[in-house]
Amino acid sequence: MESPLAATLRAAVFAARVHATHTRKGAAAEPYVNHVLEVAALLAEHGAPDVAVIAGLLHDTVEDSSDDPEPVTLAALAAEFGEEVAGIVAEVSDDKSLPKEVRKALQVRQAAKKSAAARQLKLADKISNLRAIMASPPRAWEHARRVEYVGWAGRVAVGLRGCNPGLEALFDATYRAAMAKLAEEA
Ligand code: ZN
Repeated sequence: MESPLAATLRAAVFAARVHATHTRKGAAAEPYVNHVLEVAALLAEHGAPDVAVIAGLLHDTVEDSSDDPEPVTLAALAAEFGEEVAGIVAEVSDDKSLPKEVRKALQVRQAAKKSAAARQLKLADKISNLRAIMASPPRAWEHARRVEYVGWAGRVAVGLRGCNPGLEALFDATYRAAMAKLAEEA
């Protein structure tokens, strides 16, 4: 039987391979894998279940490999890491066939309907994304767009509450710091 640590590291290696050619949108163009490691670490630090930590490592592999020569499928994740992990990744993945604004609205509307593991993962994802927007915003994102993004993340997070007080408190602090910085820059 594989230990949780071995499964977690196997997921980290899998994610690093999938994201090997991907970078973050920010001006610093950080390796994408830094983001999924941060999300998984946030989940582990705040006592999320092992399946959520493993799904945290894998959460962007399906969405972000759709244009790659060999896209990762949910079926492949299920075969490698089990149905539960694949199910959590499915819950946190957007339907990329929909326009961006529709996807963003759906995230707000559907947040509260997701499983506890998926909600914790999404909260950790939003914390990492808010940090990235503040530390290294995409070059083309002017002030209004950053404000809009932070506000939207806050609206998604409303529906993610009730499953992990520690992560919720960290999200709130990150959100407040982001809004304060943006107010200063206005
Ligand atoms: Zn993500």
